[in-house]
Amino acid sequence: MPIEKTPEKNAILFVWFNHYAGVLIKTPSKTLVIDPVDIRARSFPNADAVLITHEHYDHLDPRLITEIQKATNCTIIADPASAQRLKHAIPPEKLQQIRPSEEIKVGEVSVKAEKCNHPASEPVTYIITSEDGVKVFHTADSLPFPELAAIGEREKFDVVFCTVGIAPGTSPDTGFEIARLTKPQVAVPYHTNSAAYQQQFAEILKKELPKTACLIPELNKIYQVSKRK
Ligand SMILES: [Zn+2]
Repeated sequence: MPIEKTPEKNAILFVWFNHYAGVLIKTPSKTLVIDPVDIRARSFPNADAVLITHEHYDHLDPRLITEIQKATNCTIIADPASAQRLKHAIPPEKLQQIRPSEEIKVGEVSVKAEKCNHPASEPVTYIITSEDGVKVFHTADSLPFPELAAIGEREKFDVVFCTVGIAPGTSPDTGFEIARLTKPQVAVPYHTNSAAYQQQFAEILKKELPKTACLIPELNKIYQVSKRK
């Protein structure tokens, strides 16, 4: 799956690579990998950074992260509980702990953490802003929470990833609620192994939030999203 392609200016490429929150994001200059599990390290030969949202098994695989880090010398950005579990395997200068409202730069790309409504230790969601200003909101497997409205208003997201299954309490409805609050240009239903749930999300979105496009991703396919006009 290594992406050879580079996005056009003012665009990013993304790939959803497992049934959870595993997403690769490629900007013109950087490759970011979020929550890699159930995949081989060699899928990410060009990773500049790996971002971890929380310590659950479907988001954090310390052995795999160690392997990716050794092969690429990339930076690891992780919530405090995951950072704690990685600190014996990752060189200290390559491991950066992050908490909500903190920002870390990967070259010209900004990675900012926000709150996450999920029963884990100190989980985070990630706002990724490319060097061109394309805005991606990776919401881990969060349930909706009220602050999402203000975050959406402030950031004007191009893409928001919305959990529609597997995690406690999540459904196509809670996924839609994330889209409704954040009002992105494109909403992507993920964190599920049910095509029916993704379809339900798409139907609710079309009816209730017609200005937001739904992109139902297939695993391991490359999608390009451009900055809103
Ligand atoms: Zn999960």
